[in-house]
Amino acid sequence: MNTKQKKISYEGEIIAVQPRSNVWRYRLDNRTHSHIGYNLFLKGNADGEEREFVIAISEKQQEKYKFHIGDVIKGTGWTKLYPQLEYADYYRVGGLKKILSAPNREATSAPWNDEVPALSVYEWRGCRMLDKRVWSSKCKTCKWACMANVAIEYDWGISQKFRFESFCYGQKNCKYYKMGKPRAVPYKNCGSSYDEGWLDEICTERRGLDE
Ligand code: SF4
Repeated sequence: MNTKQKKISYEGEIIAVQPRSNVWRYRLDNRTHSHIGYNLFLKGNADGEEREFVIAISEKQQEKYKFHIGDVIKGTGWTKLYPQLEYADYYRVGGLKKILSAPNREATSAPWNDEVPALSVYEWRGCRMLDKRVWSSKCKTCKWACMANVAIEYDWGISQKFRFESFCYGQKNCKYYKMGKPRAVPYKNCGSSYDEGWLDEICTERRGLDE
């Protein structure tokens, strides 16, 4: 066990379920999304403190427990070894138990807060950059919202920069959607290029405006 990490217990109500993804950026023409599980946003007690926190679970765990907003759950998790690489507060989650089961909602408009689909659905749909303030104020409970762990290839094979970025996998004509400012992608000794949205068009080219 790494001594920087700690195993903690938590119990809380699910307030949002979003896909968990890693994004790799290299200059302007590469933005690769890998879908690695789900983030559960919880309100409750973690490591003896009342607060909101996020746990990372696998696709298999989501398939097994079918977590919904409103479920009350408990379990254990580990603190992060490298906080800059992972948005969730806790991962390597174990001992999961549903204490209270909420029914799946029937969402008829955005934010879409019914059960999240399989990761292959997110992969097929692709995503667009989503303004961080809109992610947090309007989209938090939407199954199409995502806060990704981003690695920027800053000096090829030598160093990377890390940050978190918000994305939307939802309908292109959603009334809440706002791209936000173009995103800087720096590279050593070359300044920054700006992702202004054309990668979004490529990532979501399979879908029409209302899909
Ligand atoms: S903008 Fe995207 S994430 Fe936000 S509510 Fe609409 S579909 Fe959901």
